[in-house]
Amino acid sequence: MNKSSRVGIMGGTFDPVHYGHLVTAEGARFEYGLDQVLFLPSGKPPHKTNKQVSEAEHRYMMTVLATLTNPHFEVSRLDIDREGVSYTIDSLRILREKFGAQTELFFITGADAIFEITDWKDSEEYLTIAHFIAAARPGFCLEELPQTTQNWVGEHGDRFHVLRVPAMAISSTEIRERVRKGTSIRYLVPEQVEHYIRRHGLYL
Ligand code: ATP
Ligand code: MG
Repeated sequence: MNKSSRVGIMGGTFDPVHYGHLVTAEGARFEYGLDQVLFLPSGKPPHKTNKQVSEAEHRYMMTVLATLTNPHFEVSRLDIDREGVSYTIDSLRILREKFGAQTELFFITGADAIFEITDWKDSEEYLTIAHFIAAARPGFCLEELPQTTQNWVGEHGDRFHVLRVPAMAISSTEIRERVRKGTSIRYLVPEQVEHYIRRHGLYL
């Protein structure tokens, strides 16, 4: 991992990665002058323990394929190589340590996370470790943040940012559905990801 001064971290299950993720990461990179965006596929996501999630190696490979052509994008194995449930806060602590104090970290999420943030493990610690970028996502209104989120932002308001990105009404859930039903996923995920899904018979 390079030592850069501004690093974005895009956490997710990426089952599979799609253009909504990529547009959001690139929007954040450009808007906040990030030297690098690190995609962090989760190992065992805490909120998806009872759902079927594809093997970590598949999710990792698809994320690598999707980010290959952007020299500012990298994929981290941190979470998928770690035992047990991956809590985002633990990953952030590790990355904070790894990059050192001279690096500013920006944790990037879609708007949906903002509505659950106070349920996350040790959520009050987030803004002390990293900036937080909440990207618009269709179906979630960031104009008026819920009171719980406002309380969470609290005294660290200058580290909380709302980012406008071109709205992409895409989710991994919908892509899995489409594959299962045999509907086209072309132009929703990068071509290489589509080929990977077909080749490995994922989501059937
Ligand atoms: P699933 O439907 O399986 O939950 P997802 O599409 O929400 O998948 P995740 O891997 O859960 O994808 O999301 C990773 C991160 O990307 C989250 O912060 C999520 O809010 C954000 N994100 C996902 N899709 C979009 C989108 N279309 N626009 C903006 N942000 C998105
Ligand atoms: Mg999701």
